[in-house]
Amino acid sequence: MPNSTSQTVDLTHAPDLIVRGHRVVTSGGERPAAIHIRAGSVAAITAYEDVPTGVALHDVGNSVVMPGLVDTHVHINEPGRTEWEGFSTATRAAAAGGVTTLIEMPLNSIPATTTAAAYREKLAAATGKLWVDTGFWGGVVRGNSGELRPLWESGVFGFKCFLVPSGVDEFAHVAEPDLREALPVLAELGAPLLVHAELPGPIADSSKKIVTANPRRYATWLDSRPRAAEVEAIELMLRMCREFRTRVHIVHLSASDAISRVHEAKTDGLPISVETCPHYLTFAAEEIADGATEFKCAPPIRERENREKLWEALGNGTIDFIASDHSPCPPAMKSSGTGDFLRAWGGIAGLELSLPVVWTEALSRGYAVPQLSKWLCSSPARLAGLENRKGAIAVGYDADLVIWNPDSGFLVEPSQLHQRHKISPYAGQKLSGVVETTFLRGRKIYDHGEFSPSPLGQVLRRGSV
Ligand SMILES: [Zn+2]
Repeated sequence: MPNSTSQTVDLTHAPDLIVRGHRVVTSGGERPAAIHIRAGSVAAITAYEDVPTGVALHDVGNSVVMPGLVDTHVHINEPGRTEWEGFSTATRAAAAGGVTTLIEMPLNSIPATTTAAAYREKLAAATGKLWVDTGFWGGVVRGNSGELRPLWESGVFGFKCFLVPSGVDEFAHVAEPDLREALPVLAELGAPLLVHAELPGPIADSSKKIVTANPRRYATWLDSRPRAAEVEAIELMLRMCREFRTRVHIVHLSASDAISRVHEAKTDGLPISVETCPHYLTFAAEEIADGATEFKCAPPIRERENREKLWEALGNGTIDFIASDHSPCPPAMKSSGTGDFLRAWGGIAGLELSLPVVWTEALSRGYAVPQLSKWLCSSPARLAGLENRKGAIAVGYDADLVIWNPDSGFLVEPSQLHQRHKISPYAGQKLSGVVETTFLRGRKIYDHGEFSPSPLGQVLRRGSV
């Protein structure tokens, strides 16, 4: 570690800014430290007292200084469905929530990001609107295996597919024959495949049983998406992973019944990882009121007992990390008026709340801040191949920081959220953990309710980062 003397005298290497506090989270845990930032990167991390004179100093006292969050599961829907959400609103919400890097999903925009040409359209749509650094996943759909290499070479970080209908016509789901075509290509590229893991068979069987059920009841929705749909889909993906050795990532795991299969596969050394979402770790089916369609997502929020098993798997590392699955839509599509679970759009928009939601639940289960940093920052960065630049406070990394107060709390008032449509299942909840300030590559992008004068986010492309 450099000492203060050499830094004070060597003006060519003087930092532009120092952020220091008593609770700085690095890979070694939480400690008092000073983060020396130069040209947007972390130049040094020294003892708290060890700061040269004449350098701008931001002292955060007892607030936590953590790496900016990396959210690898965000639907922004622009271009094509910008009335659902958009780059500007989604990335402002991210900045306010301490998220400094997000990777956007290939579907719900039109066109879907399933060709290199569509990827270029998405980049054009994003230009000038990004408040945080943003990269993109490509899509695997039936018949586009010829597009995978051009997409990868254009800069997507990996690919996403669905094993059930995705909810939008332009993003077709795939079955085993399609996977057999795409997986060898992805294995050769070294690209990860993110999978919405539910299979249509068990869902079709369950649908027959609910035809006369009341669609306003949450149990009707829950019964329509059984745990078996997730378990069988994950079994299929594990077989495929074993055969082709493609990196497979299961998005938004809800069914705890699949955890033992994942654990065995990891023990066998298969390149598999798993995420779950804040809402699965917070809510319980037993507590969701009839008609409360703001809680609808797929796979569904399951029972309390299931939620506790997800926490256990997160604690022991079988589940790797937490991503928001920010999936907004216009209020009318949420069926807010009728409360019909079978007609409502399935998706929860909440990337701005990931940090306080997860902290609130983690705290009540005895977890500490460094664990949170692993789940929300370093592990998701690894999925996107950004582990040498994002998701940690370390020398040479981008100076992406979130400063937050773990000891204060707030009541969620949806009208205060920065996402385009203010529907939230967290409305009225008391959460712990208040985001105070967010730095992106050494520049303040959010500070106690105020944003930087203009958006400072950049497009992240694989290969150029
Ligand atoms: Zn999603």
